[in-house]
Amino acid sequence: MRIIKRIAELRQAVRGMKRRGRSIGFVPTMGALHEGHLSLIRKARRETDWVIVSLFINPIQFNRRSDFRSYPRVLAQDARKAAGAGADALFAPSAVEIYPPDFQTSVEVERLSRRWEGRSRPGHFRGVATVVAKLFHLVQPDIAYFGQKDAQQARIVRQMIRDLNFDIRLRILPTIRELGGLAMSSRNQLLSSSARRPSRLLFEALQEARRLIQWGERRGSVVVRRMRQIIHKSSKARIDYAAIVNPKTLEPVEKLQGKVQVLLAVWIGPVRLIDNIQCYVPS
Ligand code: AMP
Repeated sequence: MRIIKRIAELRQAVRGMKRRGRSIGFVPTMGALHEGHLSLIRKARRETDWVIVSLFINPIQFNRRSDFRSYPRVLAQDARKAAGAGADALFAPSAVEIYPPDFQTSVEVERLSRRWEGRSRPGHFRGVATVVAKLFHLVQPDIAYFGQKDAQQARIVRQMIRDLNFDIRLRILPTIRELGGLAMSSRNQLLSSSARRPSRLLFEALQEARRLIQWGERRGSVVVRRMRQIIHKSSKARIDYAAIVNPKTLEPVEKLQGKVQVLLAVWIGPVRLIDNIQCYVPS
């Protein structure tokens, strides 16, 4: 697997693939790769000729410096894992390579960015959309792979692809979980051993939401209230938001019908975890 650090080198590699008619699969990441990331890489390996993974801890999508500073950085290990999952290239640029000092353009997907993560982390999705747009221009993938774990991000990227006419197919793959149900995340490494048990409450609350809906509950507020009760079983857990939304608009829904998305963001001590599930509610 080739490690590429410079934009000029990336452009040359991409041009070579295009000239030879190879399809390009792209998996953008911030590194500290786990099975969630690897599932995206493996899928790209099966579906495209040249698989490129980017590893860039995008400074402009962090609204707290401490979060940026504590984000795990393990390039050598990531390179081994990406190669093992079938990546052909790893693009790992420096921050100034992506944002030279006079950089001043940004991309904002307005309505979809307002709520949930966007509200709790001001500027986050502007940072995400901007870097993903840049990476799409550089890599020119045929298919880009994202995780359902970051549901709002995936929805925003889909909207950006449409609004800005990127000629890219988007694949959103299921959330990979640890044995107890906790969604895999690079930030899980930051959980202390005493935070491990309360971190499982997110999955427990989501499962309970699914169960209530399956048993016929159709009032969003009732389901959300029950989820809150479950999270509050631990004094270590603090809810940022719990909501049931329309997966297209990300607006809250009270009368549950058709496809809905259940969203959760919870602080476990100093670590903020997000998770979600999709449910189909028959009418
Ligand atoms: P990140 O490195 O956290 O920015 O994530 C890079 C990509 O991997 C994003 O598309 C995420 O949604 C996806 N991803 C992260 N965690 C998981 C997971 N547990 N299962 C599936 N995909 C994931």
